[in-house]
Amino acid sequence: MRLGLHLSIVGSIDKVVDRAVERECNTLQMFSRNPRGWRSKNLDSGEVESFRFKVRESGVCPVFVHTPYLFNLASPKHEVYQKSSEGLKEELRRAGELGVPFVVTHLGSHLKHGKMKGFERIIDAINESFSAVENNVALLLENTAGTRNSMGSSFEDIKYITSRVRDKGRVGVCLDTCHTFAAGYDLVSKGAIEHLLKRFDELMGLEELKLVHLNDSKGGLGSKIDRHEHIGMGKIGARGFRNILHSRLGQLPLILETPLDERRSDVENLRRVRELSE
Ligand SMILES: [Zn+2]
Ligand SMILES: [Zn+2]
Repeated sequence: MRLGLHLSIVGSIDKVVDRAVERECNTLQMFSRNPRGWRSKNLDSGEVESFRFKVRESGVCPVFVHTPYLFNLASPKHEVYQKSSEGLKEELRRAGELGVPFVVTHLGSHLKHGKMKGFERIIDAINESFSAVENNVALLLENTAGTRNSMGSSFEDIKYITSRVRDKGRVGVCLDTCHTFAAGYDLVSKGAIEHLLKRFDELMGLEELKLVHLNDSKGGLGSKIDRHEHIGMGKIGARGFRNILHSRLGQLPLILETPLDERRSDVENLRRVRELSE
C-alpha cells in the first residue's frame, strides 16, 4: 500500500520528506510554496538538491504537489483567472525542478457565470500551461463535492475537460473520497464501489486515475458539503473504507487530508487505514 499525508514544507522544502519518514509514510503531498498568497519565491537550489536526495534515499514515492486553494481556473474575474493560470504554469515548473511527477489541482468555481464558460477557461488554462511548460509533470484534476458553482463534481465534467486537452498524456484524475460521496456517488458498499469504478472505466479508463485523497465525509451522500472527517468517523464510515481499501482504489497512492484536531492525530488516521486494509 502507498499511504501518505499532506505535509508541511515549513522550514525548508526538503523537511517535508523527513516529516513523511517520521510518520512512516511512503508517499506524500505538499504545497510547493506558501499556499495563502499569490506570489511565490523561487526555489532555493540547495533545498531542491536536498529534497531530491531525500526523496531518492527514503523511497517516498510518488510525491504530489497540490496547487494553492486560492487558484480559480474557472474564474470570470480577469485578474484572478490570469493569476491562477500563471500560477498553474509556475506549479508545473516547480514540480519539474523538484523532480515531482504530479501536480494536483481543483477546478475552481464559475461564480454563477455558467458551467460552459467555466469549462472554456479551465481548458484554455491547461492547454496554455502545457505549451508554456514542457516537462514530464502530469496534472491531476481533482473531483469536487459539488458545492454551488464549483466545477468538476461529476466524472462526466472532468472527462469533458480532459477530452479537450491537447496533450492527453499529461492529464489524469485525483479522486477524493469525501468529495465523491458528497457529490452523490455511493462509496459504502462493495457493489456501489464496483459500480462507480465500472462507470469511471467506461467513461475515461481506470488508468487515468492516479491518486486517491482518502477522507471521510461529515456530510451525507449527495449533501454537496465539502467537509472532511477522520477515517471511519464520518458518513462513509469504517465499512465504506474497508471496502474502498479492498477495491482497485486501495491499490492507488492514498493521501489523507483528514482534519487537524484533538479527536485523532494524523498518525492514528494512518494506523486506522492500515487496520481497515487488512
Ligand atoms: Zn485537493
Ligand atoms: Zn475537500
